[in-house]
Amino acid sequence: MTSQLAIRARHDAAVERVDVVVCTIPTDAPESDGTIEWDETTIVIVEARAGDEIGLGYTYADPAAGSLVARRLAPLVAGRQATSVPRAWEAMVASVRNVGRPGIASTAIAAVDSALWDLKARLLGVPLVTLLGSVRESVELYGSGGFTSYSDEQLERQLGGWASEGFRNVKMKVGREPERDPERVAVARSAIGKTGLMVDANGALDRKQALALAERLVEQDVIWFEEPVSSDDLEGLRLLRDRAPVQIEIAAGEYGYDLPYFRRLLEAGAVDVLQADATRCAGITGFLRTGALCEAYGIPLSAHTSPALHLHPCCAVGPLRDLEYFHDHARIERLLFDGVAEPVDGRLTPDLDRPGNGLELKRTDAARYAA
Ligand SMILES: [Mg+2]
Repeated sequence: MTSQLAIRARHDAAVERVDVVVCTIPTDAPESDGTIEWDETTIVIVEARAGDEIGLGYTYADPAAGSLVARRLAPLVAGRQATSVPRAWEAMVASVRNVGRPGIASTAIAAVDSALWDLKARLLGVPLVTLLGSVRESVELYGSGGFTSYSDEQLERQLGGWASEGFRNVKMKVGREPERDPERVAVARSAIGKTGLMVDANGALDRKQALALAERLVEQDVIWFEEPVSSDDLEGLRLLRDRAPVQIEIAAGEYGYDLPYFRRLLEAGAVDVLQADATRCAGITGFLRTGALCEAYGIPLSAHTSPALHLHPCCAVGPLRDLEYFHDHARIERLLFDGVAEPVDGRLTPDLDRPGNGLELKRTDAARYAA
């Protein structure tokens, strides 16, 4: 009876405080894709406290997301029942009406929502995947990097490294100098042997350029062409999907912040695989709902980047195909968190001996990069 009361008390615990830390971390080499270049990455980390537990969530976003959490979302969530995560989510979404739901606001909500799900699992003393409801024990990864700023040697070393570690698929960037892409893709192919090869143009190409490139890529057995044209060109994506060689799947969705966005992509028949990012689409709550939308349309879901944050929800979403093991984020997550799962034969498995998402903030390391 006492333990029943104790469980009830933890279930009823109120959020005491929500804190935010913004860290900016230099890349280990200049990075670029078809449309932008960068040399640092900002992570906005949220900690939500209740009943001696700390829930951890984060988003890769502009520092403005951290301000929004501190100024608007933290006071809104404090005092609410920690275990009623969707109720807090509804309140956060309502509160950003005049700020604009897509973009920064959605990333800020994502970080808080993910922290609250982690907090709930810790309050109940279970791994996050157990709380969400497991559909698989581990998740398939694909290695992702192959930046357009890389030399051929860097490209070979990174993609070849993942291939030799047992990753089934790897992805590289294309589209900055489309005339050079067939040659770069051939370099990657020779480094990875029979490993699946995926490319991402980040919307850099127009329809005819993209179609022409797809016809060249098939010579190197490329199996995935991500954002061959802008993700806002739904007709263009659909055209590529219908006209590109049949073995190449068309993917997009990483800039999705809400369900209507994903519904529009799916309604247009624009993708063979939908991508979604829990750190953008308003957190684990938004990601799970996107999974349901994919199920309704019969389209598989692929998780975009942030592997440590996606691991548990990815094990709880039916139509999930794989999770992007993005070089930059894998490096940052190892740097800032204890308890990050390491890939084994190209898969990640949640550690069921650790409560919540299994992550603990390395405070002294985070402080070094904090703004
Ligand atoms: Mg992409």
